[in-house]
Amino acid sequence: MKYSSLALFFVASFCLTSCFQDTKSIQSKGFDKEVNVYTDRHYQVDDSIFSVFEREFGVRINIVKGDAQELLARIEKEGQASKADLLITTDIARLYQAKLYGFFQPIALGDALLGIPEYLFDDEGYWFGLTKRARVIVVSKKEEVDAQTMNYENLANPNWSGRVSMRSKENVYNQSLLASMIAANGEEEALDWIKGVVANMYQSPKGNDRDQVKSIYAGKADITLINTYYLGKMFTSDDPLEVEAAKSVNIIFPNQNNRGTHINISGVGVLQHAPNKLEAMELIKFLLSERIQGVYAEVNFEYPVHSNVKPCAIVESWGDFKEDRSSLNQLGALNTTAIKLFDKGGWK
Ligand code: FE
Repeated sequence: MKYSSLALFFVASFCLTSCFQDTKSIQSKGFDKEVNVYTDRHYQVDDSIFSVFEREFGVRINIVKGDAQELLARIEKEGQASKADLLITTDIARLYQAKLYGFFQPIALGDALLGIPEYLFDDEGYWFGLTKRARVIVVSKKEEVDAQTMNYENLANPNWSGRVSMRSKENVYNQSLLASMIAANGEEEALDWIKGVVANMYQSPKGNDRDQVKSIYAGKADITLINTYYLGKMFTSDDPLEVEAAKSVNIIFPNQNNRGTHINISGVGVLQHAPNKLEAMELIKFLLSERIQGVYAEVNFEYPVHSNVKPCAIVESWGDFKEDRSSLNQLGALNTTAIKLFDKGGWK
């Protein structure tokens, strides 16, 4: 059985066991309660998790999916009339913006935060990390590199000339990585880095994270960046091209001898005008529970935020690494600067 089939089996059995045991209480409770979730996470695992919550708590989850910017614009437009209870989004920059614009309200989760390291949630209670991802370097197996000393900064080294594959500056994952470099090295060095990377690109940025790895497999480039869960998905994909592409690269956790590898989060916050605040808080607690943290890890290859929960075997096989623990709010605050610098340095 391929890993992806195993994962699906896991979701199915997880739902079946959890769902059937509460059939009675669902029928008696009905769905007289609800919670409205705006989310830009586009992963099937979330739907399965929400179904389990509905059945176990008797609370209907109404989901609005969209691009993070669209959802933020919608929340702003709806104002006080908004029915949205929760915003779930995949990057600290968006969580920070939602806090900054006054879209979130602070909440206290008490014991639900036991086991979650403090840098993974807002110290004022406006947002909470649900999963973690590392943005790693991958290099063609044909290249001999010293993984121990490789830094993000090395991507600008002229010896990678014409061999770097990158996605667009519009991509928020790259914006948050750049924000972490501005935090560590200052704007001037960050701008020099952009110019160096741009000079090394084999083509103008395009495609998603997985496409960059495919360009290495195709022999067009030798080095790129990718979020860890996409690598897990590639290794276990039904598409043989994705599997071969993933096998063609070595995974490097950069900056191990200094600040550590850049970490980003998927996270959640309760919206200012949430009509179902209590149910929304229940849902957050459920998502942070060890059981559901394990599902995110096993099915979606994300790093759990709960320290008692391990990553899945394939992710764990890549080894432990030192994380860059810069304040996530600081990375969010530097997002505007990062976008400006990308423009200035000519990163398309
Ligand atoms: Fe993603």
